[in-house]
Amino acid sequence: MKIHEYQAKEIFSRFKIPVPRGSVAFDAKEAGNIAEEIGGSRWVVKAQIHAGGRGKGGGVRVAETPEAVAETAKEMLGMTLVTPQTGPQGRRVSKVLVEEALAVKQEFYVGAAVDRARQSPVMIGSSEGGMGIEELAASRPEAIVREWVDVGIGLPAFQARNLVFGLGIDASLVRVGTGIFLQLYRLFESFDCMLVEINPLVVTEANQIFALDAKIEFDDNARYRHKDLQELDDPGEQESLELEASEHRLNYIRMEGNVGIMVNGAGLAMATMDLIKQAGAKPANFLDVGGGATTEMVTKGFEIILGDKSVRGILINIFGGILRCDVLANGVVEAARNVAINVPVVVRLDGTNVEEGRDILAASGLDFVVADSMADAAEKVRGIV
Ligand code: GDP
Ligand code: MN
Repeated sequence: MKIHEYQAKEIFSRFKIPVPRGSVAFDAKEAGNIAEEIGGSRWVVKAQIHAGGRGKGGGVRVAETPEAVAETAKEMLGMTLVTPQTGPQGRRVSKVLVEEALAVKQEFYVGAAVDRARQSPVMIGSSEGGMGIEELAASRPEAIVREWVDVGIGLPAFQARNLVFGLGIDASLVRVGTGIFLQLYRLFESFDCMLVEINPLVVTEANQIFALDAKIEFDDNARYRHKDLQELDDPGEQESLELEASEHRLNYIRMEGNVGIMVNGAGLAMATMDLIKQAGAKPANFLDVGGGATTEMVTKGFEIILGDKSVRGILINIFGGILRCDVLANGVVEAARNVAINVPVVVRLDGTNVEEGRDILAASGLDFVVADSMADAAEKVRGIV
């Protein structure tokens, strides 16, 4: 689960990681009032969306009077912000963060992430913060310092200091910088995070350190341990088809390709996606209807797949186990009657009651392309799209 920058900064504050003074606003007037309250002479208005790269897309702007803050907020609220991370469809802005603007001297990148290959958390730092850490990691990996953390021990002070020295922060700030890394790890660990990123962490002209940006991603598998975090969720930020799917207990993730897939079981879904790719086509989604799929769920699955306008063909790949092939076939036929399916559908069934299942499909009079193996199904669907 991702959260907004303003929410992440509230959590930073709890962990004594310094953030600029500011507050979230849902309308222009509120934004202006926040600027008045904060005081000062320059403010930053920041679009709150679950995607980075806002600076490059016009989602981070400086204003020099409270009226200008309100005006900027008015322009941002309701706009569709396109950044390098949103994809071409962009994200609608429904709230902005108004903060005091700081006189920035230096920008750093600081983060904590999970290193799957090393099976441990990794703390990351770079003196080249600001925008574009991904490109930096690709082009100049030596500009990034890392310390892997033994979860049994936690982050010891010497490792935090190694990171600070690696950043090349001014000697007078080593103590504060070390404290920030230690707190960052505490936060990361205690909330079961996948990622915590401060990009940029800045040193101001007044020689103070602040987290200017904040990104937190929680591990959904640990959600049950953090019931209180649930209220930080913003369903408006989720892909609408994914949201609809989750409301119907369907495991659906949208992707780039044009072959819609419907499968029972996550492993089978993965294998099906591999085969589609191997055949030279690209999956449009991951959709696991699960073992206990009902006719309603299969119908909903079809609707969701077809709701993605880039889908040119559908592959249904079912292995009848707990879910018998005849039950599934009945569900599919029923669904096909309820939903107008305007793209070819390839079906591969195997397992319990497979003959009955195939007979039901054949007798339905509906136009399914029947495949007799997974590889055959993948070839057939590639031929279509
Ligand atoms: P992102 O582009 O979505 O990652 O948004 P950020 O919060 O990182 O803001 C982008 C950039 O705006 C930062 O890297 C800073 O260079 C700049 N920025 C944001 N707030 C301030 C500020 O208060 N003062 C100054 N000088 N620059 C700022
Ligand atoms: Mn940033």
